[in-house]
Amino acid sequence: MTDWRVMANSSEVPSARIFDDPLVHRLAPAHDPDTQFFWTSGADGRLRIQRCADCNYYVQPPTRHCPMCGSDRCSPQTVSGHGRVHTFTVNYQPWVKDQCPYIVAIVELDEQTGLRLTSNLLDCGVDDVAIGMRVTVGFVARHGVWYPVFIPWTAEAG
Ligand SMILES: [Zn+2]
Repeated sequence: MTDWRVMANSSEVPSARIFDDPLVHRLAPAHDPDTQFFWTSGADGRLRIQRCADCNYYVQPPTRHCPMCGSDRCSPQTVSGHGRVHTFTVNYQPWVKDQCPYIVAIVELDEQTGLRLTSNLLDCGVDDVAIGMRVTVGFVARHGVWYPVFIPWTAEAG
């Protein structure tokens, strides 16, 4: 099993913030040794995505073989956490008691065209989200899982 904690470039990426969960109820991911690194990566404030050592393709969700070149030399690698809102929806339906409206966004990471995560956008009013807006990663820690979330971001803000 890959030791993702020794990635060479981890120290180059600043540690992201931890946020309170805006969701009253959040499902825990299924236990899967192939995706465990993804759900615990935020423990040190950094987002990691599986990457192929042979062709450098980022593979999300993680799989045992690179879909581009077939290599089995894939391992988690720290990414910047920066990206753009590819698309989004706002959930107004209070499926559980006391749930406020929240944003579900598909974010495309800067590292690779088509490298997208479905997540929540926090620190952003439901009327203020827009396709193309710059975002950066943060985490919600719950159930022993560090869920990647995103917040609005500008390069000037750091
Ligand atoms: Zn590959």
